[in-house]
Amino acid sequence: EILSRSALEARAQVMAAREAARFAEARPKSRAAHGGVGGFLDGVPMLWMLDWPTPFPMVVDQASGARLVDLDGHQIVDLCLGDTGAMFGHGPAPVLEALKRTASRGLTTMLPSSDATAVGRLLAERFGLPFWQVAATASDANRFAIRVARAVTGRAKVLVFDGCYHGAVDDTLVDLVDGRTVSRRSLLGQAVDLSQTTVSIPFNDEAALAAALAGSEIACVLAEPVMTNCGMILPGPGFHAALRRLTREAGTLLLIDETHTLSSGLGGYTALHGLEPDLFVAGKAVAGGVPTAVWGLSHAVAERLDAVRRARPDGHSGIGTTLSGSALQLACLRACLEEVMTAEAYAAMERQAGRIAGGLAAAIARFGPPWHVARVGARIEVVFAKDPVRDAAEARAAASHPIEQALHLFLLNRGYLVTPFHNMVLAAPALTDAEADGFVSAYGEALAELCGAGG
Ligand code: PMP
Repeated sequence: EILSRSALEARAQVMAAREAARFAEARPKSRAAHGGVGGFLDGVPMLWMLDWPTPFPMVVDQASGARLVDLDGHQIVDLCLGDTGAMFGHGPAPVLEALKRTASRGLTTMLPSSDATAVGRLLAERFGLPFWQVAATASDANRFAIRVARAVTGRAKVLVFDGCYHGAVDDTLVDLVDGRTVSRRSLLGQAVDLSQTTVSIPFNDEAALAAALAGSEIACVLAEPVMTNCGMILPGPGFHAALRRLTREAGTLLLIDETHTLSSGLGGYTALHGLEPDLFVAGKAVAGGVPTAVWGLSHAVAERLDAVRRARPDGHSGIGTTLSGSALQLACLRACLEEVMTAEAYAAMERQAGRIAGGLAAAIARFGPPWHVARVGARIEVVFAKDPVRDAAEARAAASHPIEQALHLFLLNRGYLVTPFHNMVLAAPALTDAEADGFVSAYGEALAELCGAGG
């Protein structure tokens, strides 16, 4: 007999409370360290560090490969990987070597370093577009790419898909409420009404896309190829082809944000599926965890940008930041592109992700909740719905905060760390069969308790 959602959530709340207490009891040092952190707002260097379901943040002592050790000495298999920043494992040896080499040769000069030529060539080869720029974060890269799109099209608006996240980028922080685009209600200090700058439509909705593009107001569509920030929403058959055709017909640029979907394989989802973006962004993991993002432009966009720049007076363009493109970033980008983000690494990630996805699907089938496993290469997510979700409205309806929290805490107490946002799982190349199987088995135990008879 399959339990109702409300019965599952009631059990989840009991489990979460018990597991939170267990977490706290096992971590006196983390608790004391967090309590003793003066000088930070709410005791953390960045407020998102409070966005975990634990009663206080687990303080990390060290991280290497696919493992962490916390301050209380617990060995943890890391399937969160810094929410993607460490997708290829913590401290990959070639990146550590690059850090060592640059440390004594100057970290930042606002001039190209000797790695620049190789990195430019590698980016063009790997991701397909001919021209590149380096930024410090994916948020920055998206902002700059949007600025280029507006500059070359002379259009004001950006189109995004409901449920998106592209970083701290004003123009993208909107929701679709009752068919209208509105500023996200959680935003702080929002002065501009974002419905003036942005149009939000449901993912996988070709008709809505055609209608939104018809007015010739949209400078660019900014999209993740698979939506990963609101559950996991896969593109339906033909959606990417329609997106490309309709944007071309409307004179709208296509900006693909591969920050999370780099998990797809070498060159990201774009290379794997032959997408043809005009602008491209990748961040977080591209330099092995050193704050770096890259954004690329097509020939046509670069030519148009050149013309626009010539027509403007010199001065602030609104594109670039002082530490971007630094010797430090280029050295780590080069190491990562040449030696870390390799076909072999992806093969290992793919294998473990397949093992985990298969194991989770079997556990779900055994215990019967109407859920499924979604996956984009090395990234996996259990979606609490029977069938794949097509858009954010379906993803939101499937999500359950109490169930996510209970599973997260249960797994962490058994030595497996998943992402605090909808329990995303990422398989690093260093993950072993035993670790992948151990995770699946712990997930099965959690399901047995949540869904089993008695409870
Ligand atoms: N793009 C996507 C798809 C993301 O998921 C994120 C962050 N989660 C970003 C951009 C922004 O990255 P950052 O916070 O490093 O700027």
